[in-house]
Amino acid sequence: MPSSPLASLALPHVRGLHAYTPGLQPTGPGWVKLNTNECPYAPSPRVVEALHREIGRDGASLRLYPNPPSRPLRAALARLHGVREENVCVGNGSDDILNLLVRACCAPAAAAGWMFPSYSLYPVLVAIQQGASAVLPFERSMQLPIEQIAASSAQAFFLTSPNAPTGVAFSNAELARVLAAFRGLLVVDEAYAPFAAENAVPLLAAHPRLVVVRTLSKAYALAGIRVGYALADPEIIGLLDRVRDSYNVNRLSQAAALAAVEDPDYYAQVIAKVRATRDAQLGCFAAERGWFTYPSQANFIFTEPRDARGASGPAVARSAYDFLGSRQVLVRYFPSHALTDSFLRISVGTDDEMLVLQDSLDAWLKTPNA
Ligand SMILES: *Cc1c(COP(=O)(O)O)cnc(C)c1O
Repeated sequence: MPSSPLASLALPHVRGLHAYTPGLQPTGPGWVKLNTNECPYAPSPRVVEALHREIGRDGASLRLYPNPPSRPLRAALARLHGVREENVCVGNGSDDILNLLVRACCAPAAAAGWMFPSYSLYPVLVAIQQGASAVLPFERSMQLPIEQIAASSAQAFFLTSPNAPTGVAFSNAELARVLAAFRGLLVVDEAYAPFAAENAVPLLAAHPRLVVVRTLSKAYALAGIRVGYALADPEIIGLLDRVRDSYNVNRLSQAAALAAVEDPDYYAQVIAKVRATRDAQLGCFAAERGWFTYPSQANFIFTEPRDARGASGPAVARSAYDFLGSRQVLVRYFPSHALTDSFLRISVGTDDEMLVLQDSLDAWLKTPNA
């Protein structure tokens, strides 16, 4: 790329970086937003109370720096998961945690590994660090290639489970087999685990090379406050604390997250509702429409649209995506790879939003290009 004198002040590899592309966040009214897997329901009312309490009448507390390690939140998360506070590190979103792991473990001589397709932030973080990479492709079955991961030269392997964008989850039995054979750090990115049948937390006690990464952005309806965390052996947590910004989680986010974590009954209802809507939608897509759809354990569905003639493929997925967009129904389309380019990823919204989605797909099937 042509380098201006200003850009030439940066490191050469930085000039060549490509920033992560987040899903669209439309600002106008009227959108049915099913593209970034946010929760369709409000956070716990206790979150709003906690924010008001933290701000107070005049915002005086905002003069002061937040608790540097987010200590009260670490303690609450430890109680939630039945681990010790020394097993928890809190970040500015789980993206911050993933970044800390890459900073701590990845370099030109120490590769990071991940599956494709999975969360597309990993390559961005590793490129910033000039890390080497060991990328393993899924087959269309989306089965976990345990032997290949075990044989990987990666220092740290990032596994998304349930995976994005497919929604397919990997069992603890599979993860235990990976842990038994793979010598590096296994980072299981569990952004969607609250919607799944199983999670890897019970494996932590016996597997010091396992890191479980969680977020409050999806199941806790708090994408806007940016809180995520890692659960791991205290030595790993110590490494993250050495590379972390000392005030990486702001005062309001700590207060909001603490209130959310301390209201499990509220979130059990939210999660049950999202799962019920997801399972009903899986029925709509797979059984009723006959579209190939992965068995999602997340809060989104990855489905391969068929047009009125029964055809599928990139042109069909693109046509459905464009038609939905023209109806202000926003979903996600990943055109750049054969494993994803004939699918749409659709976040689970409210039942009303799902009605609009299904009606819009019916209308698409009646258009000439479908
Ligand atoms: C949404 C998501 C994240 C990001 O979570 P934040 O806490 O909002 O940074 C991490 N990993 C995966 C797989 C995700 O889908």
